[in-house]
Amino acid sequence: LPNKTEDVPKPRFLRVNTLKIDIESAVKEFSKISTVKRDEMLPDLLELLPGFDLHDHPLVLDGSVFLQGKASCMVAHALNPKPGWKVIDACAAPGNKTIHLAALMKGRGNIIACELNETRLKILQETVRRSGATNIDIMSGDFLDVDPKDPAYRKVRAILLDPSCSGSGISAQRLDHLLPSHIKDVDAGASKRIQKLAGFQRKALEHALSFPSVERITYSTCSVHQEENEDVIQSVLPLASSLGFELATPYPQWKRRGLPVFDGSEHLLRTDPSDGMEGFFVALFVRTQPNEKIAV
Ligand code: SAM
Repeated sequence: LPNKTEDVPKPRFLRVNTLKIDIESAVKEFSKISTVKRDEMLPDLLELLPGFDLHDHPLVLDGSVFLQGKASCMVAHALNPKPGWKVIDACAAPGNKTIHLAALMKGRGNIIACELNETRLKILQETVRRSGATNIDIMSGDFLDVDPKDPAYRKVRAILLDPSCSGSGISAQRLDHLLPSHIKDVDAGASKRIQKLAGFQRKALEHALSFPSVERITYSTCSVHQEENEDVIQSVLPLASSLGFELATPYPQWKRRGLPVFDGSEHLLRTDPSDGMEGFFVALFVRTQPNEKIAV
């Protein structure tokens, strides 16, 4: 069985909500209670020493900072939407990445945050309210029903797709994938569930690729399973290529890449508990060939 001591203690990560407070002021405020390190890759991410409970801190309560892990913060930065763009967050609740997009877009442009689950929709509304973002339209419904040909979505330039996943990269569940395969096989129910999730993940990614003006798409999960990560990406590659997309390399300086199961998997990014964070997966598609089907 895996040895938990391989995990390094996780620092307490904070994302500064630049819609409400500038990074220097946030650093100054948290320096009063801990050593504060600015992340080398993500300019709006602060690292405090492990073990601080910050849930009741005034800057957390008023939405100036959000308690968000580093891996999760990598996604919106990888998508890199510009202020003024129209963007879809396809599976949005609880909304951490939605409001991160809003901050990166400096509150300009428009984000359509789509969420299927009514209960989680309320959490999304609360996250958006707390963030102070005013350029987010919350949409209750199924992303698969959002029609790419509808004039309302024809101009969408970026899609963040963070679909439901097994969550195996988070806490205790993450160790499942390290079990010997004969033990894993006993849990046929879990494997069926992963196949079902992977089916939806693939469908949602194909749908995202079909939006005519989309230039950038991130696909992310907090799963460690190849079926939900590399396999999903590999399965859409022929379609992506026919629509002019290529896999790009988010954070080329990051060493842990996709499992080497197909040519090009080195573009993909994985994080792992031994990096001091949760198990996460990020892929980035960029359209490099113009879409000839867009009417001018
Ligand atoms: N991106 C979110 C964040 O960082 O806060 C987390 C998203 S969570 C992994 C996936 C979400 O997608 C869940 O809230 C789930 O209810 C929603 N969802 C699942 N299927 C969906 C669908 N077909 N259309 C829209 N949302 C969906």
